[in-house]
Amino acid sequence: MKLFGRKSHPTVCPKCGGKVVPIVYGMPLPEMEEKADRGEVILGGCCIAVDEHGRQLDPQWGCVDCDERF
Ligand SMILES: [Zn+2]
Repeated sequence: MKLFGRKSHPTVCPKCGGKVVPIVYGMPLPEMEEKADRGEVILGGCCIAVDEHGRQLDPQWGCVDCDERF
């Protein structure tokens, strides 16, 4: 299985210049909810969309300021 995230991830939002954090998918653990409350991650929901090759289609990064996802 190939790992995701080979391309360098953005550190600032291309739209507003805000903080970019990883979007976490799957059932949120309590610690993930705490991180989301602190603005360290964005909870993306429990369903992950993948294509026929198993590649993730959903955005992996989100902006905590304007909610832009990419
Ligand atoms: Zn933004």
